[in-house]
Amino acid sequence: MDFRLSEEQELLRRTVREFAEAEIRPHVMEWDEAQQFPMSLLPKLAALGLMGVQFAEEYGGAGLSAVDYCICIEELARVCPAIALSVAAHNGLCSAHIAAFGSDEQKRRFLPRLVRGEVLGAWGLTESGAGSDAAGMRTTAVRQGDCWVVNGAKTFITHGRIGGVMVVIAVTDRAKGHRGISAFVVERGTPGMTAGKKEDKLGMRASDTSEVIFENCRLPADQLLGEEGQGFINTLQVLDAGRIGIAALSVGLAQGAFEAARTYAKERRQFGQPIADFQAIQWKLADNATRIEAARLLTYRAAHLRDRGIRTTRESSMAKLYASEIAVKAADDGVQIHGGYGFVKDYPAEKYFRDVKLLTIGEGTSEIQRLVIARQLLGQ
Ligand SMILES: Cc1cc2nc3c(=O)[nH]c(=O)nc-3n(C[C@H](O)[C@H](O)[C@H](O)COP(=O)(O)OP(=O)(O)OC[C@H]3O[C@@H](n4cnc5c(N)ncnc54)[C@H](O)[C@@H]3O)c2cc1C
Repeated sequence: MDFRLSEEQELLRRTVREFAEAEIRPHVMEWDEAQQFPMSLLPKLAALGLMGVQFAEEYGGAGLSAVDYCICIEELARVCPAIALSVAAHNGLCSAHIAAFGSDEQKRRFLPRLVRGEVLGAWGLTESGAGSDAAGMRTTAVRQGDCWVVNGAKTFITHGRIGGVMVVIAVTDRAKGHRGISAFVVERGTPGMTAGKKEDKLGMRASDTSEVIFENCRLPADQLLGEEGQGFINTLQVLDAGRIGIAALSVGLAQGAFEAARTYAKERRQFGQPIADFQAIQWKLADNATRIEAARLLTYRAAHLRDRGIRTTRESSMAKLYASEIAVKAADDGVQIHGGYGFVKDYPAEKYFRDVKLLTIGEGTSEIQRLVIARQLLGQ
Protein backbone atom coordinates (compact mmCIF):
# COMPACT_ATOMS: atom_id res chain seq x y z
CA MET A 1 0.00 0.00 0.00
CA ASP A 2 1.23 3.47 -0.83
CA PHE A 3 -0.73 6.34 0.70
CA ARG A 4 1.21 9.04 -1.14
CA LEU A 5 -0.28 10.96 -4.05
CA SER A 6 1.73 10.90 -7.27
CA GLU A 7 3.77 13.93 -8.32
CA GLU A 8 1.11 14.72 -10.95
CA GLN A 9 -1.58 14.61 -8.27
CA GLU A 10 0.41 16.91 -5.98
CA LEU A 11 0.78 19.30 -8.92
CA LEU A 12 -2.95 19.06 -9.63
CA ARG A 13 -3.70 19.92 -5.99
CA ARG A 14 -1.37 22.93 -6.06
CA THR A 15 -2.81 24.15 -9.37
CA VAL A 16 -6.44 23.96 -8.23
CA ARG A 17 -5.52 25.47 -4.85
CA GLU A 18 -3.78 28.44 -6.46
CA PHE A 19 -6.70 28.91 -8.84
CA ALA A 20 -9.23 28.83 -5.98
CA GLU A 21 -7.19 31.27 -3.89
CA ALA A 22 -6.79 33.72 -6.78
CA GLU A 23 -10.09 33.49 -8.64
CA ILE A 24 -12.60 32.44 -5.97
CA ARG A 25 -11.44 33.48 -2.47
CA PRO A 26 -11.73 37.25 -3.09
CA HIS A 27 -15.39 36.90 -4.19
CA VAL A 28 -16.72 34.30 -1.77
CA MET A 29 -18.91 36.61 0.33
CA GLU A 30 -20.02 38.74 -2.64
CA TRP A 31 -21.34 35.64 -4.45
CA ASP A 32 -22.89 34.30 -1.27
CA GLU A 33 -24.79 37.53 -0.68
CA ALA A 34 -25.86 37.85 -4.32
CA GLN A 35 -27.16 34.24 -4.22
CA GLN A 36 -26.03 33.84 -7.81
CA PHE A 37 -23.70 31.35 -9.38
CA PRO A 38 -21.00 33.49 -11.07
CA MET A 39 -21.35 32.51 -14.73
CA SER A 40 -18.16 34.50 -15.48
CA LEU A 41 -16.24 31.81 -13.59
CA LEU A 42 -17.33 29.05 -16.00
CA PRO A 43 -14.71 29.62 -18.76
CA LYS A 44 -11.97 29.79 -16.12
CA LEU A 45 -13.11 26.54 -14.50
CA ALA A 46 -13.31 24.95 -17.94
CA ALA A 47 -9.85 26.18 -18.95
CA LEU A 48 -8.46 24.24 -15.99
CA GLY A 49 -10.40 21.12 -16.99
CA LEU A 50 -12.71 21.37 -13.97
CA MET A 51 -15.93 21.20 -16.00
CA GLY A 52 -15.03 17.79 -17.41
CA VAL A 53 -12.60 16.28 -14.97
CA GLN A 54 -13.21 12.58 -15.60
CA PHE A 55 -14.55 12.61 -19.14
CA ALA A 56 -12.76 11.18 -22.13
CA GLU A 57 -10.42 13.42 -24.06
CA GLU A 58 -12.36 12.72 -27.27
CA TYR A 59 -15.18 14.84 -25.78
CA GLY A 60 -12.74 17.50 -24.57
CA GLY A 61 -12.58 16.10 -21.03
CA ALA A 62 -9.46 16.07 -18.88
CA GLY A 63 -9.57 12.25 -18.69
CA LEU A 64 -8.52 12.22 -15.04
CA SER A 65 -9.21 9.57 -12.40
CA ALA A 66 -11.78 9.48 -9.59
CA VAL A 67 -9.00 10.21 -7.08
CA ASP A 68 -7.95 13.24 -9.17
CA TYR A 69 -11.57 14.38 -9.21
CA CYS A 70 -11.66 14.20 -5.39
CA ILE A 71 -8.57 16.39 -5.21
CA CYS A 72 -10.20 19.02 -7.47
CA ILE A 73 -13.49 19.11 -5.54
CA GLU A 74 -11.65 19.14 -2.20
CA GLU A 75 -9.54 22.14 -3.17
CA LEU A 76 -12.53 24.12 -4.47
CA ALA A 77 -14.54 23.32 -1.31
CA ARG A 78 -11.67 24.39 0.94
CA VAL A 79 -12.21 27.91 -0.40
CA CYS A 80 -15.89 27.97 -1.46
CA PRO A 81 -18.12 24.95 -0.83
CA ALA A 82 -20.92 26.46 -2.97
CA ILE A 83 -18.75 26.63 -6.09
CA ALA A 84 -17.54 23.09 -5.35
CA LEU A 85 -21.18 21.95 -5.09
CA SER A 86 -22.00 23.40 -8.50
CA VAL A 87 -18.91 21.84 -10.07
CA ALA A 88 -19.77 18.50 -8.41
CA ALA A 89 -23.40 18.55 -9.62
CA HIS A 90 -22.28 19.45 -13.13
CA ASN A 91 -19.56 16.78 -13.31
CA GLY A 92 -20.80 14.08 -10.98
CA LEU A 93 -24.53 14.04 -11.74
CA CYS A 94 -25.54 15.51 -15.10
CA SER A 95 -22.41 14.92 -17.19
CA ALA A 96 -21.58 11.64 -15.44
CA HIS A 97 -25.06 10.25 -16.20
CA ILE A 98 -24.68 11.16 -19.89
CA ALA A 99 -21.12 9.81 -20.05
CA ALA A 100 -22.03 6.52 -18.39
CA PHE A 101 -25.37 5.75 -20.02
CA GLY A 102 -25.71 8.01 -23.07
CA SER A 103 -25.45 6.73 -26.64
CA ASP A 104 -22.38 7.73 -28.66
CA GLU A 105 -24.54 10.29 -30.44
CA GLN A 106 -25.79 11.76 -27.13
CA LYS A 107 -22.26 11.94 -25.76
CA ARG A 108 -21.04 13.72 -28.89
CA ARG A 109 -24.00 16.10 -28.77
CA PHE A 110 -23.96 17.08 -25.10
CA LEU A 111 -20.61 16.34 -23.45
CA PRO A 112 -18.33 18.74 -25.39
CA ARG A 113 -20.49 21.75 -24.50
CA LEU A 114 -20.68 20.68 -20.85
CA VAL A 115 -16.96 20.05 -20.67
CA ARG A 116 -16.11 23.39 -22.31
CA GLY A 117 -18.30 25.13 -19.76
CA GLU A 118 -20.56 26.57 -22.45
CA VAL A 119 -23.49 25.20 -20.47
CA LEU A 120 -23.98 24.11 -16.88
CA GLY A 121 -25.43 20.68 -16.25
CA ALA A 122 -28.44 19.96 -14.01
CA TRP A 123 -29.83 16.64 -12.81
CA GLY A 124 -33.43 16.24 -11.71
CA LEU A 125 -34.42 13.35 -9.48
CA THR A 126 -35.97 14.93 -6.36
CA GLU A 127 -39.61 16.07 -6.20
CA SER A 128 -41.59 17.80 -3.48
CA GLY A 129 -43.19 14.49 -2.49
CA ALA A 130 -40.23 12.24 -3.33
CA GLY A 131 -36.87 12.99 -1.71
CA SER A 132 -35.30 10.05 0.11
CA ASP A 133 -37.99 7.89 -1.46
CA ALA A 134 -36.96 9.02 -4.93
CA ALA A 135 -38.69 6.09 -6.65
CA GLY A 136 -41.99 7.52 -5.39
CA MET A 137 -41.75 10.29 -7.99
CA ARG A 138 -44.84 11.57 -9.79
CA THR A 139 -43.24 13.04 -12.92
CA THR A 140 -44.23 10.98 -15.94
CA ALA A 141 -42.98 10.55 -19.48
CA VAL A 142 -45.53 9.07 -21.87
CA ARG A 143 -44.58 7.82 -25.31
CA GLN A 144 -46.56 9.51 -28.11
CA GLY A 145 -45.37 8.57 -31.59
CA ASP A 146 -41.77 9.73 -31.99
CA CYS A 147 -41.81 11.72 -28.76
CA TRP A 148 -41.91 11.37 -25.00
CA VAL A 149 -44.25 13.84 -23.29
CA VAL A 150 -43.02 14.83 -19.83
CA ASN A 151 -45.28 16.23 -17.08
CA GLY A 152 -44.37 16.97 -13.47
CA ALA A 153 -42.08 19.09 -11.33
CA LYS A 154 -38.61 18.56 -9.90
CA THR A 155 -37.59 20.27 -6.66
CA PHE A 156 -34.23 21.47 -5.24
CA ILE A 157 -32.45 21.17 -8.58
CA THR A 158 -28.91 22.52 -8.65
CA HIS A 159 -28.77 24.81 -11.72
CA GLY A 160 -32.52 24.38 -12.24
CA ARG A 161 -32.77 27.97 -13.53
CA ILE A 162 -29.36 28.34 -15.15
CA GLY A 163 -28.52 24.86 -16.41
CA GLY A 164 -28.31 24.53 -20.19
CA VAL A 165 -28.63 20.73 -20.20
CA MET A 166 -30.63 18.70 -17.71
CA VAL A 167 -31.01 15.00 -17.06
CA VAL A 168 -34.53 14.35 -15.81
CA ILE A 169 -35.78 11.11 -14.30
CA ALA A 170 -39.44 10.19 -14.87
CA VAL A 171 -41.88 7.31 -14.57
CA THR A 172 -42.49 5.63 -17.90
CA ASP A 173 -44.42 2.61 -16.62
CA ARG A 174 -45.80 2.88 -13.10
CA ALA A 175 -46.86 -0.77 -12.97
CA LYS A 176 -43.19 -1.82 -13.15
CA GLY A 177 -42.10 0.08 -10.02
CA HIS A 178 -38.32 0.78 -9.97
CA ARG A 179 -38.05 -0.83 -13.38
CA GLY A 180 -40.60 1.56 -14.85
CA ILE A 181 -38.44 4.67 -14.41
CA SER A 182 -36.36 6.18 -17.23
CA ALA A 183 -33.96 9.05 -17.74
CA PHE A 184 -34.05 11.76 -20.39
CA VAL A 185 -31.74 14.54 -21.43
CA VAL A 186 -33.37 17.93 -22.01
CA GLU A 187 -32.03 21.23 -23.28
CA ARG A 188 -33.01 24.50 -21.69
CA GLY A 189 -35.49 26.36 -23.85
CA THR A 190 -37.39 23.20 -24.81
CA PRO A 191 -41.08 24.24 -24.94
CA GLY A 192 -42.97 22.99 -21.88
CA MET A 193 -39.95 23.15 -19.55
CA THR A 194 -39.76 26.16 -17.23
CA ALA A 195 -37.83 27.10 -14.12
CA GLY A 196 -39.94 27.45 -11.00
CA LYS A 197 -39.18 28.91 -7.59
CA LYS A 198 -35.57 29.76 -6.81
CA GLU A 199 -34.75 28.58 -3.28
CA ASP A 200 -33.59 31.13 -0.69
CA LYS A 201 -31.09 28.96 1.16
CA LEU A 202 -29.30 28.80 4.52
CA GLY A 203 -25.98 28.05 2.83
CA MET A 204 -24.43 27.07 -0.49
CA ARG A 205 -26.00 30.29 -1.71
CA ALA A 206 -23.69 30.85 -4.68
CA SER A 207 -24.97 27.55 -6.09
CA ASP A 208 -28.34 28.02 -7.80
CA THR A 209 -31.12 25.72 -6.56
CA SER A 210 -34.63 25.83 -7.98
CA GLU A 211 -37.70 23.99 -9.12
CA VAL A 212 -38.10 22.82 -12.72
CA ILE A 213 -41.58 22.35 -14.15
CA PHE A 214 -42.58 20.18 -17.11
CA GLU A 215 -45.93 20.79 -18.79
CA ASN A 216 -46.50 18.66 -21.86
CA CYS A 217 -42.82 18.95 -22.62
CA ARG A 218 -42.23 16.95 -25.83
CA LEU A 219 -38.86 15.29 -26.18
CA PRO A 220 -37.76 13.46 -29.34
CA ALA A 221 -37.36 9.72 -28.73
CA ASP A 222 -33.59 10.02 -29.11
CA GLN A 223 -33.44 12.01 -25.86
CA LEU A 224 -34.19 8.91 -23.81
CA LEU A 225 -30.96 8.41 -21.85
CA GLY A 226 -30.01 4.76 -21.40
CA GLU A 227 -32.53 2.00 -21.77
CA GLU A 228 -36.22 2.51 -21.08
CA GLY A 229 -36.95 1.26 -17.54
CA GLN A 230 -33.30 1.43 -16.45
CA GLY A 231 -33.35 5.08 -15.31
CA PHE A 232 -33.60 4.41 -11.59
CA ILE A 233 -31.04 1.62 -11.59
CA ASN A 234 -28.66 3.85 -13.55
CA THR A 235 -29.39 6.68 -11.11
CA LEU A 236 -28.22 4.55 -8.18
CA GLN A 237 -24.94 3.94 -10.02
CA VAL A 238 -24.56 7.66 -10.73
CA LEU A 239 -25.10 8.31 -7.02
CA ASP A 240 -22.48 5.69 -6.06
CA ALA A 241 -19.91 7.89 -7.78
CA GLY A 242 -21.56 11.22 -6.95
CA ARG A 243 -21.43 10.48 -3.24
CA ILE A 244 -17.65 10.17 -3.40
CA GLY A 245 -17.65 13.70 -4.80
CA ILE A 246 -19.79 14.93 -1.89
CA ALA A 247 -17.41 13.16 0.51
CA ALA A 248 -14.49 15.02 -1.12
CA LEU A 249 -16.46 18.26 -0.85
CA SER A 250 -16.96 17.54 2.86
CA VAL A 251 -13.24 16.87 3.38
CA GLY A 252 -12.36 20.14 1.61
CA LEU A 253 -14.90 22.15 3.58
CA ALA A 254 -13.70 20.63 6.85
CA GLN A 255 -10.10 21.41 5.89
CA GLY A 256 -10.98 25.04 5.11
CA ALA A 257 -12.89 25.46 8.39
CA PHE A 258 -10.05 23.81 10.31
CA GLU A 259 -7.35 26.00 8.74
CA ALA A 260 -9.35 29.17 9.44
CA ALA A 261 -9.78 28.12 13.09
CA ARG A 262 -6.10 27.24 13.48
CA THR A 263 -5.00 30.62 12.08
CA TYR A 264 -7.42 32.44 14.35
CA ALA A 265 -6.36 30.44 17.42
CA LYS A 266 -2.76 31.50 16.93
CA GLU A 267 -3.68 35.18 16.51
CA ARG A 268 -6.39 35.67 19.12
CA ARG A 269 -5.08 36.45 22.60
CA GLN A 270 -6.99 36.09 25.86
CA PHE A 271 -5.63 35.97 29.41
CA GLY A 272 -2.36 37.29 28.00
CA GLN A 273 -1.69 34.41 25.60
CA PRO A 274 -2.86 33.05 22.23
CA ILE A 275 -5.97 30.93 22.69
CA ALA A 276 -4.02 28.18 20.80
CA ASP A 277 -2.06 27.73 24.06
CA PHE A 278 -5.18 26.49 25.87
CA GLN A 279 -5.54 22.74 25.92
CA ALA A 280 -9.28 23.02 25.23
CA ILE A 281 -8.53 24.65 21.87
CA GLN A 282 -5.62 22.32 21.08
CA TRP A 283 -7.80 19.25 21.59
CA LYS A 284 -10.44 20.60 19.23
CA LEU A 285 -7.76 21.18 16.59
CA ALA A 286 -6.20 17.76 17.14
CA ASP A 287 -9.53 15.94 17.04
CA ASN A 288 -10.63 17.73 13.87
CA ALA A 289 -7.30 17.18 12.10
CA THR A 290 -7.54 13.46 12.94
CA ARG A 291 -11.14 13.15 11.77
CA ILE A 292 -10.37 15.01 8.52
CA GLU A 293 -7.49 12.63 7.75
CA ALA A 294 -9.73 9.62 8.42
CA ALA A 295 -12.46 11.04 6.16
CA ARG A 296 -9.91 11.78 3.42
CA LEU A 297 -8.66 8.20 3.53
CA LEU A 298 -12.19 6.76 3.32
CA THR A 299 -12.91 9.08 0.39
CA TYR A 300 -9.73 8.32 -1.55
CA ARG A 301 -10.20 4.63 -0.91
CA ALA A 302 -13.68 4.68 -2.42
CA ALA A 303 -12.34 6.70 -5.38
CA HIS A 304 -9.37 4.37 -5.80
CA LEU A 305 -11.69 1.33 -5.91
CA ARG A 306 -13.78 3.05 -8.58
CA ASP A 307 -10.66 3.71 -10.59
CA ARG A 308 -10.06 -0.04 -10.51
CA GLY A 309 -13.58 -0.64 -11.83
CA ILE A 310 -14.98 -1.97 -8.55
CA ARG A 311 -18.58 -1.21 -7.54
CA THR A 312 -18.49 1.01 -4.43
CA THR A 313 -22.05 1.29 -3.11
CA ARG A 314 -20.97 0.60 0.48
CA GLU A 315 -17.65 2.46 0.35
CA SER A 316 -19.24 5.54 -1.27
CA SER A 317 -21.94 5.72 1.38
CA MET A 318 -19.42 5.20 4.20
CA ALA A 319 -17.20 7.98 2.85
CA LYS A 320 -20.14 10.35 2.31
CA LEU A 321 -21.68 9.61 5.71
CA TYR A 322 -18.49 9.97 7.72
CA ALA A 323 -16.98 12.91 5.81
CA SER A 324 -20.18 14.97 5.90
CA GLU A 325 -20.74 14.36 9.62
CA ILE A 326 -17.16 15.20 10.60
CA ALA A 327 -17.37 18.30 8.38
CA VAL A 328 -20.38 19.47 10.40
CA LYS A 329 -18.30 19.01 13.56
CA ALA A 330 -15.29 20.83 12.04
CA ALA A 331 -17.45 23.78 11.01
CA ASP A 332 -19.14 23.86 14.43
CA ASP A 333 -15.81 23.78 16.26
CA GLY A 334 -14.54 26.43 13.86
CA VAL A 335 -17.25 28.83 14.99
CA GLN A 336 -16.64 27.91 18.64
CA ILE A 337 -12.92 28.62 18.37
CA HIS A 338 -13.71 32.02 16.85
CA GLY A 339 -16.06 32.85 19.76
CA GLY A 340 -18.27 35.85 18.88
CA TYR A 341 -16.19 36.45 15.75
CA GLY A 342 -17.38 33.10 14.47
CA PHE A 343 -20.90 34.43 14.51
CA VAL A 344 -20.29 37.40 12.20
CA LYS A 345 -19.51 37.64 8.52
CA ASP A 346 -16.10 39.28 8.91
CA TYR A 347 -14.55 35.81 9.34
CA PRO A 348 -15.06 32.73 7.14
CA ALA A 349 -16.21 30.47 10.01
CA GLU A 350 -19.88 31.44 9.81
CA LYS A 351 -20.10 30.63 6.09
CA TYR A 352 -18.57 27.17 6.49
CA PHE A 353 -21.09 26.63 9.30
CA ARG A 354 -24.02 27.57 7.02
CA ASP A 355 -22.74 25.70 3.97
CA VAL A 356 -21.86 22.46 5.70
CA LYS A 357 -25.37 21.35 6.64
CA LEU A 358 -26.26 20.58 3.04
CA LEU A 359 -23.67 17.82 3.03
CA THR A 360 -25.58 15.57 5.43
CA ILE A 361 -28.71 16.06 3.28
CA GLY A 362 -27.86 16.24 -0.46
CA GLU A 363 -27.32 13.08 -2.55
CA GLY A 364 -28.94 11.08 0.23
CA THR A 365 -29.26 12.09 3.87
CA SER A 366 -27.07 10.57 6.59
CA GLU A 367 -30.01 8.35 7.54
CA ILE A 368 -30.23 7.04 3.97
CA GLN A 369 -26.45 6.43 3.86
CA ARG A 370 -26.78 4.32 7.04
CA LEU A 371 -29.65 2.45 5.44
CA VAL A 372 -27.56 1.75 2.31
CA ILE A 373 -24.57 0.62 4.40
CA ALA A 374 -26.71 -1.59 6.64
CA ARG A 375 -28.39 -3.23 3.63
CA GLN A 376 -24.96 -3.98 2.18
CA LEU A 377 -23.76 -5.41 5.50
CA LEU A 378 -26.86 -7.56 5.85
CA GLY A 379 -26.79 -8.67 2.24
CA GLN A 380 -30.28 -7.30 1.55
C1 LIG B 1 -29.02 22.75 -1.89
C2 LIG B 1 -29.63 21.49 -2.42
C3 LIG B 1 -29.26 21.03 -3.67
C4 LIG B 1 -29.84 19.87 -4.19
N1 LIG B 1 -29.55 19.49 -5.48
C5 LIG B 1 -30.25 18.47 -6.04
C6 LIG B 1 -30.10 18.17 -7.43
O1 LIG B 1 -29.30 18.79 -8.14
N2 LIG B 1 -30.86 17.17 -7.96
C7 LIG B 1 -31.76 16.45 -7.21
O2 LIG B 1 -32.41 15.58 -7.77
N3 LIG B 1 -31.92 16.72 -5.89
C8 LIG B 1 -31.20 17.71 -5.29
N4 LIG B 1 -31.39 18.01 -3.96
C9 LIG B 1 -32.36 17.24 -3.18
C10 LIG B 1 -31.73 16.35 -2.11
O3 LIG B 1 -31.10 15.26 -2.70
C11 LIG B 1 -32.86 15.96 -1.15
O4 LIG B 1 -33.18 17.10 -0.40
C12 LIG B 1 -32.49 14.81 -0.24
O5 LIG B 1 -32.37 13.62 -0.97
C13 LIG B 1 -33.50 14.60 0.89
O6 LIG B 1 -34.81 14.58 0.43
P1 LIG B 1 -35.92 15.49 1.15
O7 LIG B 1 -35.36 16.87 1.21
O8 LIG B 1 -37.21 15.32 0.44
O9 LIG B 1 -36.02 14.93 2.62
P2 LIG B 1 -36.95 13.70 3.12
O10 LIG B 1 -36.74 12.51 2.28
O11 LIG B 1 -38.35 14.19 3.30
O12 LIG B 1 -36.31 13.42 4.55
C14 LIG B 1 -36.70 14.11 5.74
C15 LIG B 1 -36.04 13.40 6.92
O13 LIG B 1 -36.56 12.05 7.02
C16 LIG B 1 -35.49 11.13 7.01
N5 LIG B 1 -35.88 9.90 6.33
C17 LIG B 1 -36.53 9.76 5.15
N6 LIG B 1 -36.69 8.47 4.85
C18 LIG B 1 -36.11 7.76 5.84
C19 LIG B 1 -35.91 6.37 6.11
N7 LIG B 1 -36.33 5.41 5.25
N8 LIG B 1 -35.26 6.01 7.24
C20 LIG B 1 -34.81 6.95 8.12
N9 LIG B 1 -34.96 8.29 7.91
C21 LIG B 1 -35.60 8.67 6.79
C22 LIG B 1 -34.38 11.84 6.23
O14 LIG B 1 -33.12 11.27 6.51
C23 LIG B 1 -34.52 13.25 6.76
O15 LIG B 1 -33.88 13.38 7.99
C24 LIG B 1 -30.78 19.14 -3.41
C25 LIG B 1 -31.11 19.60 -2.13
C26 LIG B 1 -30.57 20.76 -1.64
C27 LIG B 1 -31.01 21.24 -0.28
